[in-house]
Amino acid sequence: MSVPHEYKGLQTQAIHGGEGPDPRTGASAPNLVMSTTFVIDPDISFSANELAEDAPYVYTRWGNPTIDQLERKLAGLEKAEAAAVFASGMAAIMGLFLHCLKAGDHLIMTDVAYAGAAELTNDVLPEMGVEVTKVDCSDVANVVAAIRPNTKLVYAETPANPILRLTDVAALAELTRSKGIKLVVDSTFATPIGLRPLELGADYVVHSLTKYLGGHGDAIGGALLGRREDIAGVRTLGIHLGGVLSPFNAWLIMRGMATLPIRMRAHEEGALAVAQYLEGHPKVTRVVYPGLPSHPQYELACRQMTNFSGMIQFQTRDGAADARALADRLRVIHYAVSLGHHRSLVVYLPTDNLLRSSFRMTADQEAAYRAYAGDGLFRLSIGLEDAEDLIADLEQALA
Ligand code: PLP
Repeated sequence: MSVPHEYKGLQTQAIHGGEGPDPRTGASAPNLVMSTTFVIDPDISFSANELAEDAPYVYTRWGNPTIDQLERKLAGLEKAEAAAVFASGMAAIMGLFLHCLKAGDHLIMTDVAYAGAAELTNDVLPEMGVEVTKVDCSDVANVVAAIRPNTKLVYAETPANPILRLTDVAALAELTRSKGIKLVVDSTFATPIGLRPLELGADYVVHSLTKYLGGHGDAIGGALLGRREDIAGVRTLGIHLGGVLSPFNAWLIMRGMATLPIRMRAHEEGALAVAQYLEGHPKVTRVVYPGLPSHPQYELACRQMTNFSGMIQFQTRDGAADARALADRLRVIHYAVSLGHHRSLVVYLPTDNLLRSSFRMTADQEAAYRAYAGDGLFRLSIGLEDAEDLIADLEQALA
């Protein structure tokens, strides 16, 4: 569903965007409409391909009032013409790939990305006849060198999961636009509070709503945002694929999103305090956080990001042993995958595993990754607890 950008302030948009009091009951909070079907006029079209934007609701896989409200709120925050939500971030990514790529096309994929997205491009896309080249997109020259006549899409992620490498979206967008190639940015780590890739020239933005946007670790979802006509095509495809978001999850995510700007400020404040603490810890050999002057791309972080988010990457001399200690001893921080929740989460990502199962890089890329990540790294997602409690928890667990 497409929207006007209703409010100037992002916090107002997060609260009121896409919703309003129920015209019949006056209910102030959005209704949760779980109905799978809607009473219709016999003349209505049954083809998803012929659905007008303002068509009445027919069946929840095609459209649902609660899901529409979430899409409008999201589009307003990301300043996108339109948003389409999916059952997960991965469903949004696959929907985008199917929309943009066909057999014989070429995808330029960032060499470091969320492992699931990386794995999708390792086997599934090539089996469908799509050529994939992995490059370090943080250097535009690598992307220039990889472009072929059949290149249709460049896929970047910033900050990149898990190493927090940044990509200059404006510089990359200038290149892709000049070549007639579409650019998608997975902005899950940054959220619309930290970065708005469409304003910098990207064509699509992907979010795992499971992370900061939902914010509470209780609902999986994904979203794709961009121009109205592009999103309309993806939406029709999504209806056929069937990976639609449950209205209940849409309602939970929307409720979480109402506090997104406030939460992101708190995530950033907590992450900076913990990152500074870790920098001084004798067992810690490296800390990477976009808000620290020691981040290798700190200048770009300050130029491009309006919030540094809550993700920290750190390394210790014996990561595998320290992972065991953290899993056994942490009392506040949960040793668990995922990120962006109000609860802090940490997980150790061994380099051999990631390279074997997910990244599958060229020898040069692998050498660069090993030099950067050593045997493995900790991905720490700072929640909304008091920083002093998080620091005390790490202090006793890393002792
Ligand atoms: N993109 C990023 C950066 C992620 O971290 C994840 C999941 O961790 C995804 C996409 C996939 O999202 P989901 O788990 O909602 O499918």
